[in-house]
Formats: sequence, structure tokens, C-alpha cells
Amino acid sequence: MALKTAQQYEESLRKLNFKVYLQGELVKSPVDHPMIRPSMNSVKMTYELAQDPQYADLMTATSHLTGKKVNRFCHLHQSTDDLVKKVKMQRLLGQKTAACFQRCVGMDAVNAVDSTTFEMDQKLGTKYHDRFNKFLLKMQEEDWTVDGAMTDPKGDRGLSPSKQVDPDLFVHVVEKREDGIVVSGAKAHQTGAINSHWILVMPTISMTKEDADYAVSFCAPADAEGIFYIYGRQSCDTRKLEGGDIDVGNKQFGGHEALMVFDNVFIPWENVFMCGESEFSGMLVERFAGYHRQSYGGCKVGVGDVLIGAAATAAEFNGAAKASHVKDKLIEMMHLNETLYACGIACSAEGHKTASGNYIIDLLLANVCKQNVTRFPYEIARLAEDIAGGLMVTMPSEKDLRHPEIGKVVEKYFRGVASVSTENRMRILRLIENITLGTAAVGYRTESMHGAGSPQAQRIMIARQGNLDKKKELAKAIAGIK
Ligand code: SF4
Ligand code: FE
Repeated sequence: MALKTAQQYEESLRKLNFKVYLQGELVKSPVDHPMIRPSMNSVKMTYELAQDPQYADLMTATSHLTGKKVNRFCHLHQSTDDLVKKVKMQRLLGQKTAACFQRCVGMDAVNAVDSTTFEMDQKLGTKYHDRFNKFLLKMQEEDWTVDGAMTDPKGDRGLSPSKQVDPDLFVHVVEKREDGIVVSGAKAHQTGAINSHWILVMPTISMTKEDADYAVSFCAPADAEGIFYIYGRQSCDTRKLEGGDIDVGNKQFGGHEALMVFDNVFIPWENVFMCGESEFSGMLVERFAGYHRQSYGGCKVGVGDVLIGAAATAAEFNGAAKASHVKDKLIEMMHLNETLYACGIACSAEGHKTASGNYIIDLLLANVCKQNVTRFPYEIARLAEDIAGGLMVTMPSEKDLRHPEIGKVVEKYFRGVASVSTENRMRILRLIENITLGTAAVGYRTESMHGAGSPQAQRIMIARQGNLDKKKELAKAIAGIK
């Protein structure tokens, strides 16, 4: 099977034996849990749209391994055109879900592990690349959602992994056996972990020789023995337990993050892609981060499209759409959003082929893209709140609107223009609240800051890639300085 249907994806998740804790309780069926299900729906959309002929060009690609049609999320980019289509696909999915659809981390991880294992084998004579290709083949054939897992808890940021008081604060090898390795530790903020079939673990920082046990990369089934998850809380998440459909803002879709814990997990050698080669850990981190920083030039823009549309609709419902300052604010929001998109497209168009044959983005432009993402969604959100008005955070609940007596009062006093029902006005305002302050704000705001690396990480890469010496030479040549 090269392409799973959305329903087959859901059924395949049901078969997994996840151990997930949510609000202090073990979850029986994650797929059916009202707080988890909307996030599963977002991943499901990556399967659903791949079946739709009108999106085939963006959502699917031809495998370089088999020549068969695969979901683009399982594909290694074979050209700059593939890189551009990746960003367009992410914008599309952001528009359809108004949430984080989670599947990109696996796509970004396989593209980074592919080129890194190839170059590592060439230099060190290791045998990782072939093993990795076997995993990739299976991922494409089974149309797996893979969770690319990078971020360790990191403990004291001033200490290296091996100097931490607790050795588990970074994922590490605790035992090397003839048949494989045993790993312990945890990965934090794992996007879509509970909606994934497999996980692909990478180191979180460039390791030194003394931290060689921490330079480890491997794949494992998401429900492997010894792996368990603690589900992350989101702002307003328990509204999903109330059963209504207005107050949640976005009833159908969401995202999730979880703490992924490895308690002495056995990984057979065939699933190990780095084990002690500390000098290649930095390359893997830099490439994965680069791909994921490109990703944000797509997904956040798609969610931004929905937020801009919601703000424009709220302005209409408020009767303020014709005000020149409102029009100007909407123009500013579009300008900022398209600037992010331009960066996502630019770093893709300027990509190049790696030694293994897949394509990588221009790292400088991908880091500029993500640096802008740490700022512009905040401004877009600020403008959306400005246009929406304070009612977005002060209006009564859906239960009040539906109440046999006070419902009439809510209906009367919270109406904007006469032609639009109070219910619809509440719906659009709750959507803005959801994206700017509610569950989707994890993906649209704070993740824009810290996801794919915090702002300082991009500034370090911009400093490294920006070629300041060349710029000085240019200035000196023009100024006539010898
Ligand atoms: Fe994909 Fe964006 Fe979510 Fe990352 S934050 S997994 S790029 S949707
Ligand atoms: Fe992310």
C-alpha cells in the first residue's frame, strides 16, 4: 500500500498500544479522546488531501526508491521544485486545519538523516545509510506518520549532557549489545507523537567526544516497549471536554505536543543511524533545523491566512469593514504573512543537491525565514485582536447563548450588524481567540517563537552563513580602500 486513506490511517493508529498519560490518567483510546482527537484529525487531513486529485501535485510525489507514488510527507526532496511544493503543501494544510498538522517533523527528519548518514558512511566507513534506506522504504510503503524527535529536556543549560546531575536529561546509550543498543532519557515538546506510527530520534545539539553516548540517532515504533508519553496541556484545552462547538473556536482540528520518555528501550542495530559519531551530530541538527525552519514559511502562513480571513469577517460582522484603518490593518497582516511565505519559497528555490542526492534548502534563507516567524505572527495576532474587539475574550459561553431565558439577552446585546446572527459573530470571534490565545496558539504563537529552535539559534546560523567578510570587501572596493 503506497497511499493510506484517512480512515485507514485512523484504524492503523487504533492498533497501536500507546501508553499515554493525560491529566494524571492513562488514556484508554487516544484516537477517541476528545482532547486528542482534533489533533488526530489534522494529521488525517494529510492523508485525505493526498487522495484528492486536485491536490495530487502538492500532496504526493514519486519515490526515488521505487518510482511509486507516495505521500509527500514520506518523500526525499529530489529537486528545488520538490522543496517549493513542500512549502505550498504546508500552506494548504495550514489553511485547511488552522492548526499544526504535525506530520512535517518526520519529513524533515528523514531528509536530514538521509544526507547525514551518507556523508558519515563516506568519511567513517560506517554502514548507516543502507539501514536508513530500508526504514525509509517501509515508511513510504506503509505511508507512516513519523515523529522526528530532537529536543531533549536539557536540564541545566550551562552544562553539557554528560555533566548534568541526571544523565537522562539528554537521550543516551546506556548499553551496547551484540544485537542492538539500550537507550534512556526523554524528548520534550514532541509534536504529534501520539498520532505517529514510528519515531525517528536525533541528537539535540552538536556533541563533543566526551558526550559521544549522547550522539545517537535511531527509529522505533511509537508504541515500543519502554516508551511512554505525558500529554502537554494547552490553553483552554478542557473546553474540548464540554461537548459544545462554539467556545472551542475550532471544533474539528488541533495539534498536540507530549513528553516522550524512554525507559531502557531496546533498539536493534538495524534501526540505529548514529551511535557515538559525535562529529556528525552537529550536521544532523543543523540540517533538520534548517528543513523545519523552511517548514514554518508554509504552515504558519496557512494558519495566518485563516486568521486574516477571520479578522476581516469579524470586521464585517461588527459593521467596521469599511473603516480605512481596518482596511489598512488587514493589508499589513497580508503583507507580513506573504513576507513569511516569500522566505519559505526563497530558501526552497535556492536549495541545492546534497552528496546523497536529496535536496536541501539554502540554510541562510531558511534561518531568516524562521527568524521572521518569531516576530510576524505576533504582530498579525495583535492586529487580529485589535480588529476583533474586546468581546473576543469577554463574551458569555455557548451555554448562555443556548439558555431558554438568558439566551435571548445574549442574542440581543451581542449582535453586531443586523444581518448576521449573534451565534455567527460568536463563532468567528472564538476562532480568533483559538488561534491567538487558545489551543491553536501553541502552534501559531509560542511555537512560532521556539519551534524549530529559539530565535537565538537562528541568529547564530545567520552570523555563520551571512558572510560578513564578503560584505566588507564589497564596501572597501566601492570606497577605494586597498
Ligand atoms: Fe508542521 Fe508547522 Fe506543525 Fe511543524 S509546526 S509540524 S511545520 S504544521
Ligand atoms: Fe514545529
